[in-house]
Amino acid sequence: NDFVADLVKRVKPSATIAVSMKAAELKRAGKDVIGLGAGEPDFDTPDHIKQAAIEAINAGQTKYTAVDGTPELKQAIMGKLLRENHVSYQANEILVSCGAKHSIFNLLNAVINPGDEVIIPTPYWVSYPDMTLLAGGESVIVETTAEADFKLTAAQLAAAITPKTRLVMLNSPSNPTGKAYTRQELSELADVIKNNPHVLVATDDIYEHIYWGSEPLANMVALCPEIRDRVIIINGVSKAYAMTGWRIGYAAAHADIITAMRKIQSQSTSNPCSISQAAATAAYNGPQDCLVEMKQAFKERHDYLVAALNDLPGIHCQSGDGAFYAFPDVREVVAGIEGVNDDIELSTWLLEEAGVAVVPGTPFGAPGYVRLSFATSIDVLQDAIARIKKALSVHF
Ligand code: PLP
Repeated sequence: NDFVADLVKRVKPSATIAVSMKAAELKRAGKDVIGLGAGEPDFDTPDHIKQAAIEAINAGQTKYTAVDGTPELKQAIMGKLLRENHVSYQANEILVSCGAKHSIFNLLNAVINPGDEVIIPTPYWVSYPDMTLLAGGESVIVETTAEADFKLTAAQLAAAITPKTRLVMLNSPSNPTGKAYTRQELSELADVIKNNPHVLVATDDIYEHIYWGSEPLANMVALCPEIRDRVIIINGVSKAYAMTGWRIGYAAAHADIITAMRKIQSQSTSNPCSISQAAATAAYNGPQDCLVEMKQAFKERHDYLVAALNDLPGIHCQSGDGAFYAFPDVREVVAGIEGVNDDIELSTWLLEEAGVAVVPGTPFGAPGYVRLSFATSIDVLQDAIARIKKALSVHF
């Protein structure tokens, strides 16, 4: 008997999680594998944050909280938005969820009617199209170019909008390219949104603190307050504070959208973990120097890895403005190895021949590329590069 719903059959499992699991499996089987697939910081959660969680447990904060988050955490998020992003939100405009992924899931289900279109520029975070599908929407994939630094242009956005467009998904700095929109670029996109009053825009800012671009990272609401009611800010503590396992993310948006998202959350997960919320409150209210230290480390690794990749035969890698991924063009490598026909097969080849796990570009909507995470030490990255170089030397 086949009891699985048709809709679920159309959804792909997360490709990035699949690679991490495959690498972990090989490691368990005793194979020497370097995993560059994971999308999480290798740092430990800072001590003062862990301490806040321990204190929360000891103080008995082990019960249900308000569905949309504790007043303390919502206050801390409002403070963060004002302090860092110069945007002002009220408590009824914030919903705390079990990770930014959950926030996006709630959002899509709260605003998408069957057949509504969601504009997703490539290369995209693997989950956007499948979450759109689960919410009953249609992904409208817009291909960006390497020449445009993999960024959606205002002209491309304007051309992609139809009467059925409901939402545009933006992610800056981007997973997987590390590219971030400049103020100018974001303003131009905001202008297009302004001229299309039926369109919402979600800005996935989860990598906001892992950013080393030349100008301060722009926020769409701060840049264009006229469209505030149609922007949904998505963010969380996972990447900034090395808190992926705690599962705390949030959305900030117009109260009507937040109320709809809260309704979905109230009938699915209820509140996010009470202890994690105490930890996230400490993350936002506590000392912020850990952010600078981690950013510095990521920047050094980025500089090393991008240069080292470009030294390898057939690999071309642009610099990123942030996040912790390198996203090189590997088409020449694919063409040069017999039996390897695309980025997916190259990823399997790298795992088997070099013992290095990377994620193919295809599930990000970017065939011909692979993603390497540099959320690991320079030593490990050097080892990975040496292994790839050795494996490639047979063919180049
Ligand atoms: N958005 C992007 C672009 C991501 O890369 C990730 C995690 O990989 C998330 C959202 C989800 O983050 P969280 O751990 O808060 O669910």
